[in-house]
Amino acid sequence: MAIDFTLPPEVEDVRLRVRTFMDEEVRPVQEGLQREEAERGRFIQEIVKLRERAKDQGLWNPHMPKEWDGMGLSITAMAFVSAEAARVGGIGPYVLNAQAPDEGNMHTLLAWATDEQKEKYLRPLTEGRGRSCFAMTEPEVAGSDPTQIQTTAVKDGDDWVLNGHKWFISGARGAQFAICIARTDPDADPPQARNSAFLVDIPSEGWEVVRDIDTMHGRGNHCEITIKDVRVSAKNMLGGQGEGHKLGQARLGPARLAHCMRWIGQAEVALEMLVDRALKRFSHGSLLADKQAIQWMMADSAMELYTGKLMILHAAYRIENGLEFRQEVSFAKHHVANALWKIIDRSIQVHGALGYSTDTPLADMMKAARSARLVDGADEVHQQTIARNVIKAYKADGTTRMATGDLL
Ligand SMILES: Cc1cc2nc3c(=O)[nH]c(=O)nc-3n(C[C@H](O)[C@H](O)[C@H](O)COP(=O)(O)OP(=O)(O)OC[C@H]3O[C@@H](n4cnc5c(N)ncnc54)[C@H](O)[C@@H]3O)c2cc1C
Repeated sequence: MAIDFTLPPEVEDVRLRVRTFMDEEVRPVQEGLQREEAERGRFIQEIVKLRERAKDQGLWNPHMPKEWDGMGLSITAMAFVSAEAARVGGIGPYVLNAQAPDEGNMHTLLAWATDEQKEKYLRPLTEGRGRSCFAMTEPEVAGSDPTQIQTTAVKDGDDWVLNGHKWFISGARGAQFAICIARTDPDADPPQARNSAFLVDIPSEGWEVVRDIDTMHGRGNHCEITIKDVRVSAKNMLGGQGEGHKLGQARLGPARLAHCMRWIGQAEVALEMLVDRALKRFSHGSLLADKQAIQWMMADSAMELYTGKLMILHAAYRIENGLEFRQEVSFAKHHVANALWKIIDRSIQVHGALGYSTDTPLADMMKAARSARLVDGADEVHQQTIARNVIKAYKADGTTRMATGDLL
């Protein structure tokens, strides 16, 4: 059996169209935004126009099916689109309406919402008229273990009444609704069935954004929220009672992969900057690019990128073909998050003092990259999942092959 790595012509076509759009129209706006802080308002207007241009060019909602104003791409094709878009910092995915957390929320609504919920909550997202957030993590308990969630939802007539405390809720300020995970069944067995998901309209009485948390990457609209007697109609439960954990997990497969794809785009930019600098900087009789120590950095980075891309494509293939994918998504998520960090770090090293300055985007990229090893499952949680599957596979048939990609 031959494995064909040729991209289908329609995937190659969309990848090139996104690349051209990003290079010719989006990048100049992003660079202007970084360069001219005083002109910020004007550039924001430009971004709004770019979103219209993306719609006109058929590059809108790459992650959505055609009946939802989307491009109807497969997850594999989406991998290429995300990587191309992410090469233009934070705004590339936004221009295509495929930014986190809306992208993940759109997938979740498509899979779990009723028709009525889809019209009310999914439609404005796909049309670019609204924004959303996903509220799960809490300051008081480990976000890595959602069975500990303390926010409660108690049935009262036709409503549920929510009380609790969330933080690091990305995009919360300015969102029109939240998908909020709360405990409805404290004694459920297994504990994964304790939580349910609710669509909370924003504003709602008792839902209060306390602050935009200052992070090492500045303020990124990652908010702390208090929830005091927030009434949510029973119609606004998303999925069934006790299915909050399942919904979170189902969401995280494609959403984690989407993060990986965007990180690949950023890591590529860092490696290209490393090579470019090494080809121009002269020291001790030769260019940096001629030095073996620097070539090792290039080689390590290239291998990490290549491995990451293969992992992403294999995980996408498994999702697309209805195969179990959690092990492969954990491989990709852990590997790419760490590769991103290492490649940016090497690029900073090769840039010397310039790399440590804020004259290049590298410092900013590094601060953003640090969160990759925490969000959507910390490194160690993915390693725990991976090891659990390795042991399970070995116990089942005396080999670990099933847990190492089930390939050779
Ligand atoms: C920039 C950013 C954006 C975010 N956006 C959102 C959002 O939109 N919505 C949302 O709900 N949450 C969001 N989060 C929160 C994120 O999902 C959590 O940070 C993550 O789930 C980890 O939870 P925690 O921070 O409570 O860490 P904890 O669960 O307390 O874990 C701390 C550390 O303990 C270790 N650890 C944990 N469990 C294990 C284990 N089983 N074995 C070994 N070591 C372990 C890991 O090293 C981990 O980093 C965001 C976080 C960041 C940084």
